[in-house]
Amino acid sequence: MKMASDLVRGMPPYLFSAFERKKAELAQKGIDVIDLGIGAPDLPPPPFLIEAMKRELDDPRNYTYSPYAGCREYREAVADFYEQQYGVKLDPDTEVLALIGSKEGIVHLLQALIDPGDAVLVPNPGYPVYRTAIHLARGTPIDLPLDAACDYAPQFSALDPSTYDRANIMLLNYPSNPTASLAAIDVFLEAVTLAKKHRFLIAHDSAYSLLTFGDASAPSVLQVDGAKEVAVEFGSLSKSYNMAGCRIGYIVGNQEAIRALSILKSNIDTCQFLAVQKAAAAALRRGIEAAKENGRIYEQRMKAMTAALWQMGVPVRPPRATFFLWVPTAVGYSAAEFAARLLDEAGVIVTPGTAFGSAGEGYVRISLAAPTERLLDAARRWKAIDWEGRP
Ligand SMILES: *Cc1c(COP(=O)(O)O)cnc(C)c1O
Repeated sequence: MKMASDLVRGMPPYLFSAFERKKAELAQKGIDVIDLGIGAPDLPPPPFLIEAMKRELDDPRNYTYSPYAGCREYREAVADFYEQQYGVKLDPDTEVLALIGSKEGIVHLLQALIDPGDAVLVPNPGYPVYRTAIHLARGTPIDLPLDAACDYAPQFSALDPSTYDRANIMLLNYPSNPTASLAAIDVFLEAVTLAKKHRFLIAHDSAYSLLTFGDASAPSVLQVDGAKEVAVEFGSLSKSYNMAGCRIGYIVGNQEAIRALSILKSNIDTCQFLAVQKAAAAALRRGIEAAKENGRIYEQRMKAMTAALWQMGVPVRPPRATFFLWVPTAVGYSAAEFAARLLDEAGVIVTPGTAFGSAGEGYVRISLAAPTERLLDAARRWKAIDWEGRP
């Protein structure tokens, strides 16, 4: 009896499961494990959102099937949000599709657009779901190298024109998980120019677009003139409004790509619970102040933690967005060795950079989705380890 397909058995290993085992083991011994590996917000949704959700729960009409593409109220709220925030006009009927979280959309978009063997450019380091999605669509990943010296902007000139000719899709993600870098609009301008010349689609993942610090702001790829011809953008309410468990996101931009995804999805799911869509619409209509408030909390934590790391001689660059720090490991340690020692000897979980691709070697990702005291405690424990002497 066959209990798993070749496709599932061939899936890239899930790096976090070993950490989960170790974490349980240490917890059993009574060790207080500080988990900075988490990729989900620790903050609550804003009170107005919980109120909106309660109201929607009380409405019996919300318990029927949603329209496949998402309800009109949600799609219009997304379109209005784009006009307000980016000055980009979207047709809510053809250029906006509701998603059950952007992860779902990323995986299904590749299945809707590519055929086995088709080439997809994928950032290295990058969010691991991209590679899994390419695998599940039986595509061929091609590394898009990022330039650490230029705040992890894509090194477009590192690839030759024939590679771009072969590509069907280029995945991008700014502000970035795991590197926390923020892209200027020039990066999107260059990407759109390449996409038009070499005829591929840009799929930009903007999951952290509203989690920026101070007066920094993250552009949308759709702000580039004519971008809709060659680009789609994913958005999510998981990180900006702390709705991760509600599973609500969207894709906007190129009509044909969205139509293909919508056909695929209408045969798989029936969109999200209407109450969730309507609460999300209320959040988008309220504007970005709630997200900005989260950003202020992450920024304070970021400043406290980078200051602590600097004092220890760890050269971490203070980011302008996301809730991650991208931190170089102690000299002489691979990312995996470093993370393992931190867990074994200090009970601190961080994510080895190699979980995000080969270019993550020499780095770990620290999540700021934990209170400042816990972050500073983790820094103290890190400092207490004798990094010069091997265990
Ligand atoms: C968290 C995250 C997502 C997934 O968000 P959902 O909308 O909750 O599925 C997508 N992309 C990146 C880079 C993320 O870190």
